[in-house]
Amino acid sequence: MGNATSGWFDSRELFIGGNWSEAADTLPLENPSTGEEIGTIARGGAGEIDAAVAAARAALDGPWGRATAVERGRVLVRIGQLVQERIEDLARLEAHDVGKPLTQARNDAIALARYMEFYGGAADKLMGETIPYLDGYTVYTLREPLGVTAHIIPWNYPMQIIGRSVGAALCMGNALVLKPAEEACLTALAFARLAEEAGLPAGVLNVVPGLGEEAGAALSAHPGIDHVSFTGSLSVGQAVQKAAGENVVPVTLELGGKSPQILFEDANVDAALPFLVNAGIQNAGQTCSASSRILVQRALFDEVAGRMAERYGALRVGPAMSDLEVGPLISARQKQIVEGYLRLGSDLEVLGEGRIVEDAPAGGHYVAPRLLSGATPSHVLAQEEIFGPAQVLLPFEDEEEAVAIANGTGLGLVASVWTENGARQMRMVKRLRAGQVFVNNYGAGGGVELPFGGVGKSGHGREKGFEALYAFSQLKTVACLHG
Ligand code: NAD
Repeated sequence: MGNATSGWFDSRELFIGGNWSEAADTLPLENPSTGEEIGTIARGGAGEIDAAVAAARAALDGPWGRATAVERGRVLVRIGQLVQERIEDLARLEAHDVGKPLTQARNDAIALARYMEFYGGAADKLMGETIPYLDGYTVYTLREPLGVTAHIIPWNYPMQIIGRSVGAALCMGNALVLKPAEEACLTALAFARLAEEAGLPAGVLNVVPGLGEEAGAALSAHPGIDHVSFTGSLSVGQAVQKAAGENVVPVTLELGGKSPQILFEDANVDAALPFLVNAGIQNAGQTCSASSRILVQRALFDEVAGRMAERYGALRVGPAMSDLEVGPLISARQKQIVEGYLRLGSDLEVLGEGRIVEDAPAGGHYVAPRLLSGATPSHVLAQEEIFGPAQVLLPFEDEEEAVAIANGTGLGLVASVWTENGARQMRMVKRLRAGQVFVNNYGAGGGVELPFGGVGKSGHGREKGFEALYAFSQLKTVACLHG
C-alpha cells in the first residue's frame, strides 16, 4: 500500500517550504464506504511542524511579504480557477476519503473555488481609517498580517474549512501551516498542489498531515506561530486554546453545535420540510451546523412528525460513489460513538428510519438515519452533539418555552425560525443565542459570504465572509505629529 493518488500527488507526502517529501512514518488511509485500506498518508510530527513553521516564517521575508494586496488577490483567484477545473477530481478524492456522497463532495469543491474567488476579490478591499485627534496630528490605522497562522481542521468538510480559513489568512498576507485531520487529508494535499501550480510562493502554505496528539499538539503549542484557527471538538479546542495561551497567541475556535430549527404553528411546512430533514442527514449528520433538534409548536407537531417520518422512510444509505442521500460515517470509531448515543435513546420513539441499501459493502461504516420523539429537553440526545444521522423532535407551547429549549444546551452555533409572523421573527432572532440565525430557511446554501462561528461552548471568533479578515490581521495605529 502506498501512493493512493498517483499522477496528481502522492498521498504519503508532506508539503513544506515548497518541497514534497515523504515522512519517516505513515498512517493508514481508509475508504469509509468499504472499510478497506486504500493507501497510506504521512505521519508528520514535531520535527516536521518545526520545519513547516520555519518555512512559513521565511516566506514572510520573501516575495510574499512584499506582495501587494492586488498581487495576493490574483494568486487566490488563480487557485480558485484551478480548483474549478478540477472539481470532479477533488469531489472523487473526497468521496473516497470521507465517504461523502459524490454530489455533496462536489458541492464542497465548488465552495472551495468560491472561497478563493471571494477572498481573492477581497484582498485589496480592506482598509484602515484616519482618526480625528489632537491639533497637529494625523492618525491612521494599518491592517497588517498576523504572521504565521496555524490551521488545524477536522475531517468532515476539509475543502470548505480550508477555503474559509486558509483563504482568509492568505488574503491578509499571512503564511501558514495546515494540519489536516488524520482521517481525511487528501484534498488538503491536492489543494497545496493547485496552490503551487497557481504560483503561490514556496513556504507560504505548508501541509503537515499527522495525528492530532502529535502534529496537532506540536503546532498549537509552537512558539513560532502567531494565531491558531482550530475547527473540531470541544475537548481538543480547550487543549488548543490552553497551549496557544502559553504563547499568548489568539485563537479562533469553531466547535460543535446542537442547532435547533423552530417551527411555529403558522410555519410554511411545505417550504420547511426539505430543510428540516436535509440539515440533519447531510454528510451523514457529521456537520457542525447539523440541525439535530427540531422544535415544533404543539398544534403542528403531529403533522411535522408524520411528514418528516415519511421522508426518513425514503432515505437510502450507501457507498459514496453510489451518490445516495446518506453515505457512511468516517470511521468505525465514529460509528461506535453514534450507535452509543442511539442506545442511550432506546427509551425514545422511533418515528422514522432510513435504510442501508443491500449492496452496501459489509466493512463500510453505515448507520441508518433515525428520527426520534419523546425526549425531554434535558435528555442526553436533546443536549449533546451526536455527530451522526439522528434528529430529535421536541414539542413546545409558546415563544417563551421555545427560547428556553433552544438556548438550553450551552452550545450556540446556528438556529432557525420558521414563522410567517414578522414581529415574532424579529423577537426570536434577538433572543436566540447562536452565531447565525436563519429565518424561514436553514444554512442559506453554505454562505461563503456569511460570517460564521459560535457562542458559548460552540466556540468564539468568526470565519467566512469579510469578518474573517479582521481575525486574520492586526491593527497598527500610527500617530504623526507634524505641527
Ligand atoms: P477533533 O477535535 O478530534 O479533531 C479536529 C482536529 O484536531 C484534527 O485535525 C485532529 O488531528 C486535531 N487534534 C486532535 N487532537 C489534538 C490535540 N491534542 N492538539 C491539537 N490538535 C489535535 O474533532 P473531529 O472529531 O475531527 O471533528 C468533529 C468535531 O468538530 C465536532 O464536534 C464538530 O462539531 C466540530 N466541527 C466544527 C465546525 C465548525 O465550524 N464549528 C466544523 C466542523 C466540525
